Amino acid sequence: MQVVTRTNGQWALGEHTPLNSNEQFKLDDDGLNVRARIEQVYSRKGFASIDPSDLRGRMRWWGLYTQRKEGIDGGRTATLEPEELDAEFFMMRVRVDGGALTTEQLRVIADISVEFARNTADLTDRQNIQYHWIRIEDVPEIWRRLEAVGLSTTEACGDCPRVVLGSPVAGVSADEVIDATPAIDEITRRFIGDPTLSNLPRKFKTSVAWLPDCAPEINDLSFVGVEHPTLGYGFDVLVGGGLSTNPRLAERLGVFVTLEQVPDVWHAVVQVFRDYGYRRLRNKARLKFLMADWGPQKFREVLETEYLKQPLPDGPAAAIGGTTLDHIGVHRQQDGRSYIGFAPIAGRVSGVTLAEVADAAEQAGSHRVRLTPYQKLLVLDVSDDAVQPLTERLSHVGLQSDPSPWRRSVMACTGLEFCKLAIVETKARAHTLVAELERRLADIELDTPLSIHLNGCPNSCARIQVADIGLKGQIVTDGEGRQVEGYQVRLGGRLGQDAEFGRKVRALKVTADDLGDYVERVTRTYVDTRSPGEPFAQW
Ligand code: SF4
Repeated sequence: MQVVTRTNGQWALGEHTPLNSNEQFKLDDDGLNVRARIEQVYSRKGFASIDPSDLRGRMRWWGLYTQRKEGIDGGRTATLEPEELDAEFFMMRVRVDGGALTTEQLRVIADISVEFARNTADLTDRQNIQYHWIRIEDVPEIWRRLEAVGLSTTEACGDCPRVVLGSPVAGVSADEVIDATPAIDEITRRFIGDPTLSNLPRKFKTSVAWLPDCAPEINDLSFVGVEHPTLGYGFDVLVGGGLSTNPRLAERLGVFVTLEQVPDVWHAVVQVFRDYGYRRLRNKARLKFLMADWGPQKFREVLETEYLKQPLPDGPAAAIGGTTLDHIGVHRQQDGRSYIGFAPIAGRVSGVTLAEVADAAEQAGSHRVRLTPYQKLLVLDVSDDAVQPLTERLSHVGLQSDPSPWRRSVMACTGLEFCKLAIVETKARAHTLVAELERRLADIELDTPLSIHLNGCPNSCARIQVADIGLKGQIVTDGEGRQVEGYQVRLGGRLGQDAEFGRKVRALKVTADDLGDYVERVTRTYVDTRSPGEPFAQW
């Protein structure tokens, strides 16, 4: 009798047989190859000409997802076939590695939004820009314009190395010792679009920053600045973080890496993931599952012996903690000028707004804008006399540098408006919630941030597990027995030294209509019963 051994599809162990449909389409043709078909066939012949395995598979490698058909409520999401949910329009994600943009690039992004994307341009919590309403016919022209100013959508989605997060204040922060930008630039130049790394078991999320301001605990791979007692300044390395339905915090490998070594170590970790990552089940394929089984010691051993071919020195732990570094407000730069962080609500801006940011920044003498992993944006290099005119001008387009705590700390994913997986609305809900909380809680002075993150489904694009109040969208039963949009509540999540995931409050679900009531109640109880200065997560 033949013994059938169940494998995890680890290539390094010779397990190359595709074990699910995604692995099959990636084997049939590399995701990167779809670009030629988009340029030569699909953009000329139209939406109906697109091969289904390109449409719902490979197009992601160029930052394109079909968006949700209008008018389908969230209760039907799970009951429909993918093609029934597809609109004939796309979401397009533009990667902005390190979140760094010139005003010239921002203006191109803005113009594309107005001309091709019905004025949409969301700021994501991974320093990307997301357009909606993109027609396949327009994609080559959009690429031409983006690439003319050094931007791209290459591997912005798909099972490949996604945008590399970087500190929004890299190179200007008075608290920074090493500017990690050269490492980010080298990684993107050498490895993004590299066909040897374009078929990973799942997405691969990374950050490289001196400051711990890119949520390093929840990336697949993060480099965070640290001082070694004898080797000087460099980076601590964390591997295997991620949220979604099986959240896990990244673990330290215990090594010390110099700035110059970061790109090679990044490359080696991606190769470990490519070769040893699990390819049987998509919901068990992220690097965190391999890390959970191996632990940091084995991971480090394989990394050093099989890929780097040399040991790395032991290193100390980076200081990851303190309050959230969202960089909102006016802050002094190393050179005496200022950077200013502005808060739109839940990352929702528009092409018109971004064009105004580019104009206003230039009028203030700046040519540099940064996107943050908190759905915010910064203008750098502002001289003292230009601070007030700039903040006033941008406040007229909904960008506040001194926002209410609610506007500052509400994040929301794409949700029902455009996302095919969504069950509930999120962005518009975030807007009404902020307005409601600003009115209801105007009498309360919050001296510690209180983050509220809204997700449209059980995935965690808006990081609900690490929010003070995390809201997972689902259909709930209201007081009159009707099935309505609502949220399951998690309380007390946080990042930092004592990072932990929010507790699910037993059976606590709140309808979307009752959300303002609920948050007001929780906030007043917290403010009334906490010890002085006690953060929400420890309350
Ligand atoms: Fe879509 Fe769900 Fe992600 Fe929100 S959390 S963007 S609804 S997949």
